[in-house]
Amino acid sequence: MNDIFSYNKITAEITAALKEKIGAHNVCADEEKLEAYSHDEVPQNAYDKKYTAELLLFPESTEHVSEIMKIAYEHKIPVTPRGAGTGLSGGALPAWGGIVMSFEKMNRILELDEENLTITTEPGVVTAEISRMAAQHGLLYAGDPCSGDASFIGGNIAENAGGNKVIKYGATGAQLLALEVVLPDGSVTWFGGKRRKDVTGLDFVHLMAGSEGILGIITKAVLKLMPLPRHSVDLLAAFPDTQSAIDFVPRIITEGGLIPASIEFLDHKALKLAEKYLNTEVPAGNAGAALIIQLENNDADLIEKEFEEIGKLSQKHGAVEVYVADTRSTKDRIWQARKSVPEAVSFFYSRYTKEDLAVPTAMVPRLLEMIREKAEADGLEWIAYGHAGDGNMHCTIISPDCADWHERLHAAQERIYAELIKMGGTLSGEHGIGFKRKGYMKFFLDEAQLELIKRVKLAFDPRNILNPGKLVDWER
Ligand SMILES: Cc1cc2nc3c(=O)[nH]c(=O)nc-3n(C[C@H](O)[C@H](O)[C@H](O)COP(=O)(O)OP(=O)(O)OC[C@H]3O[C@@H](n4cnc5c(N)ncnc54)[C@H](O)[C@@H]3O)c2cc1C
Repeated sequence: MNDIFSYNKITAEITAALKEKIGAHNVCADEEKLEAYSHDEVPQNAYDKKYTAELLLFPESTEHVSEIMKIAYEHKIPVTPRGAGTGLSGGALPAWGGIVMSFEKMNRILELDEENLTITTEPGVVTAEISRMAAQHGLLYAGDPCSGDASFIGGNIAENAGGNKVIKYGATGAQLLALEVVLPDGSVTWFGGKRRKDVTGLDFVHLMAGSEGILGIITKAVLKLMPLPRHSVDLLAAFPDTQSAIDFVPRIITEGGLIPASIEFLDHKALKLAEKYLNTEVPAGNAGAALIIQLENNDADLIEKEFEEIGKLSQKHGAVEVYVADTRSTKDRIWQARKSVPEAVSFFYSRYTKEDLAVPTAMVPRLLEMIREKAEADGLEWIAYGHAGDGNMHCTIISPDCADWHERLHAAQERIYAELIKMGGTLSGEHGIGFKRKGYMKFFLDEAQLELIKRVKLAFDPRNILNPGKLVDWER
């Protein structure tokens, strides 16, 4: 076991070889830059120490990535792939030093194929750029994480990022048709193709989705597009309390007979935090809780009927007010409030854990009740928001300012996870395991599955050089 974590240091000769292969201007050893590229959005105080790489590389092509991996493989140097660093699991942190490989220079959209409804990109393209480019052609790219204005598509694929439209369109993995991947030994292969059906071989495309950079490096992605819905309306329904808001979620589908594109939840504290962060009143800012419900379709009359139906239904189920946003600026106000919450948490608090719990959708009310009970029993503050429509809630537990805050948070997490398992829940719905959560995998997966993950990792990466120290808990 120890052997798989024995690595070599990057020597002057190795640096020179890297410079020769990818150009000296793409090789950086500046300490300040290394520090900036050595963490993601998990607060650094979550860990026992700082983790830094020895070298930062900026490949410009698949060939560059391949050459880097050949050198790293030969010399047994750890390599951590890095997108935009917006991750919430410590996935882009160089746990074993070595190389951080940033994809910010591989940022081109290579093709938009209107015949086959696909878009092909490099890994460093910002997610929102893909949506914008598709929309210019009357098409929809349905991946929509809240971080989409900053995150890269490579990072979205590696995390199988979810976001706001999963209930209707699925997570990032559901948008994938094909991936070009550089394997740890530097060989380059394509998984999948533009075809919509493919059972030739194993489904490596979807194994890569959510593989957190431990199996291979994504250097190109072919993503599905679909016609852009002609009309969309956002409703913000204000409820007196969390329970009534959450109880209403399944009613939209069962009683209303509708599948919205989004059903997002904010509790009272999340609404207040958004107001404080944005320094402006947000719609329903004083409500006990709120749901944002987005409807999309092609028929103006039908969408009007649908939002009237949801408006009436929500009032029947306790909503005290319903705002309808059908213009760009009113929509932006609603979504700005929702999207600002994770940033606001990081801005106003330094000691917290942003959880990413996912449960069967019918268990969401019980989940929130359980978080309240456990957090209150432990004397901890909490904020709840997230993707209520698909059962993925970002309950954030905030620690008081005390010497043993780490221990208190960990103890609270363990008690919450024990209950979560009983309700058929899981540790992470979309943020991933990474460095932050790997120690908790053993509570959720059985021995047979944990062993299988190790075997898959070693089948792709026998020298354990690609993003070591993530997802797999070898120490266990
Ligand atoms: C304010 C905020 C809101 C967020 N909202 C959401 C949300 O709604 N839904 C959601 O799912 N997530 C959300 N996130 C989390 C984060 O944005 C996503 O996990 C995102 O997919 C990370 O992309 P990134 O480019 O920043 O990747 P990074 O954080 O840089 O890396 C993430 C992982 O991907 C690997 N990786 C990166 N590029 C490659 C590649 N080319 N090949 C192989 N592996 C690679 C890295 O090694 C790492 O393990 C949010 C984060 C923030 C800060």
